[in-house]
Amino acid sequence: MNVEQVEKWMTLYQAEVEKNKDYLSQLDTDIGDGDHGNNMARGMTAVADGLEKDKPADLAHAFQNIAMSLISKVGGAAGPLYGTAFLEMAKAAKSGGTDIPNLLQVAADGVAKRGGAKVGDKTMVDVWEPAAKDAQAGQLNDANIDKLVDATKPLRALKGRASYLGERSIGHLDPGAVSTGMLLKTLLQATA
Ligand code: ADP
Ligand code: MG
Ligand code: MG
Repeated sequence: MNVEQVEKWMTLYQAEVEKNKDYLSQLDTDIGDGDHGNNMARGMTAVADGLEKDKPADLAHAFQNIAMSLISKVGGAAGPLYGTAFLEMAKAAKSGGTDIPNLLQVAADGVAKRGGAKVGDKTMVDVWEPAAKDAQAGQLNDANIDKLVDATKPLRALKGRASYLGERSIGHLDPGAVSTGMLLKTLLQATA
């Protein structure tokens, strides 16, 4: 991956989040506090501003810049989690691991560690971890991403706000899994 691709990625993701802001917040109204779309839209506006203000010279700085905007502006549970994903990608880029499967794996592991969540807990980790594996197998595509997102629906949430609902979290998509699916699909578009 290179800086131009990351900038394109963030532009595409910002537009996708903006377009789906109400949808993401509706998903979060069903099993959370209804702010996920607004949190992500606010964060992505900050990401665009940050990349504009401080043109990154290399991939590591681009990821670092994005991470800082996400951590300071998304808020909630998702801010530090997405921020960690980009911080881990910055670290990997610094040591030369700039291929997408490697970047996604370090990001996924960072999110899982930061949130203390495992696959099956009905969080964004349910998309990050298997998607990283799909990328390693050369199988990361829109259909597989959709499968991972949809698989959160029948699960009972064991982490985050949705876990307070217990059984009542069953039958709803996880909002963070949906926004992660969008992030990965726009990554594919930006690097195609
Ligand atoms: P908040 O719940 O603080 O309002 P958001 O609504 O922005 O934050 O984000 C909620 C999403 O964050 C969830 O749908 C889930 O995917 C993710 N999430 C919450 N807690 C965790 C956790 N401990 N580990 C991984 N992901 C989590
Ligand atoms: Mg919320
Ligand atoms: Mg909240």
